[in-house]
Amino acid sequence: MAKIQMTTPLVEMDGDEMTRVLWKMIKDELILPFVDLKSEYYDLGLPHRDETNDQVTIDAANANKKYGVSVKCATITPNAQRMDEYNLHEMWKSPNGTIRAILDGTVFRAPIMIDPIKPVVKNWEKPITIARHAYGDVYKSTEIRVPGPGVATLNFKGDDGQEISQEIFNFEGPGVLQGQYNKDDSIRSFARSCFNYALDQKQDLWFGAKDTISKKYDHRFKDIFQEVYDSEYKEKFEAAHLTYFYSLIDDIVARVIRSKGGFIWACKNYDGDVMSDMVSTAFGSLAMMTSVLVSPEGNYEYEAAHGTVTRHYYRYLKGEATSTNPMATIFAWSGALRKRGEKDNLPDLMRFGDKLEEACLNTLNSGIMTKDLSTLATGVEVKQVNSEEFLKAIRQELEKIL
Ligand code: NAD
Repeated sequence: MAKIQMTTPLVEMDGDEMTRVLWKMIKDELILPFVDLKSEYYDLGLPHRDETNDQVTIDAANANKKYGVSVKCATITPNAQRMDEYNLHEMWKSPNGTIRAILDGTVFRAPIMIDPIKPVVKNWEKPITIARHAYGDVYKSTEIRVPGPGVATLNFKGDDGQEISQEIFNFEGPGVLQGQYNKDDSIRSFARSCFNYALDQKQDLWFGAKDTISKKYDHRFKDIFQEVYDSEYKEKFEAAHLTYFYSLIDDIVARVIRSKGGFIWACKNYDGDVMSDMVSTAFGSLAMMTSVLVSPEGNYEYEAAHGTVTRHYYRYLKGEATSTNPMATIFAWSGALRKRGEKDNLPDLMRFGDKLEEACLNTLNSGIMTKDLSTLATGVEVKQVNSEEFLKAIRQELEKIL
């Protein structure tokens, strides 16, 4: 069988630990035998980030901007313990944070659903995609531990000299204080990414915030979404028979639980952080959660939502075979190759992305699965396998259906 040809390179970002091990296995078993892979390779593994003073992460993000599509392996975000473990020069920032800052994107996370694993919420029939605004709010807040009685005020001094000042609270004793911000520009690109992605996926978009309580901050999110929708997307949504729906976050949460799924749920930064873990757990496993960063200019970065699975890696180093689930990482590859095919008008490459996913789903639906899923599966005779055996089973299925 002739290999599928590519025209533009895919930006490939390698990573760390167990996912780095899986990365090579996935390429060798499921990609390279079928696709004449054209990729621009960036090694984001922690040792190489340290050697390059993290320049490699910046270069990789810029390459993503240049070519439009990348696939990324999970990477370690160093902490104090990693400083010793890897003998680092510096506690480098989270690569995902760096890439997000350069691409200015929104992260969309969706679960991979299979027949043997029923969502905890029985009426969820289709995946729910969480769109998390990955900028500002509590993640960039400034905090003060108030030592004792005194007045806290919120001040703004404009470059033009305009001053705004408001009392926050008159403390009669110790307490805590927090200042948060967001920017109209960032909220607007968040809104555009969500509307574009909804059109791309042909799914409705829901958005919830707490505008009744936060009359300026959350209200600004609500207003910007509505403005962007009315001026840029209303007609496109109507033509595609799609809905944009805003409500209070409490109401949205209640509706999500009662829904059948199959829509995109836009969340402010903190809500998205919390809700994506709830949604992934309710759908089965973190190892089945896909993630894609979409920039307002239409650049895509595909990855798995989970980390480097450190526990399994230490076992792997001792020579043990691990049953790490490669699904979300395979779907990062299939998603990226399909998007590359779409952008370059290569139907064979797009079809390969679809078939690769189909082969994975068929394998799981037949009961062949890794340990994390085997305990959750019902209605099928489970054959628990290690990562290598699982990838070989997918390869067999892929050869059959291609
Ligand atoms: P993790 O996602 O690696 O693991 C969390 C839990 O889920 C563990 O119990 C793990 O065994 C299980 N799990 C996750 N993926 C699995 C899979 N594919 N198969 C089977 N089980 C799976 O997160 P962590 O342990 O908090 O972090 C480990 C490292 O990953 C850290 O260094 C962290 O910085 C990094 N991390 C990276 C990313 C990213 O690059 N996107 C995201 C999160 C964490």
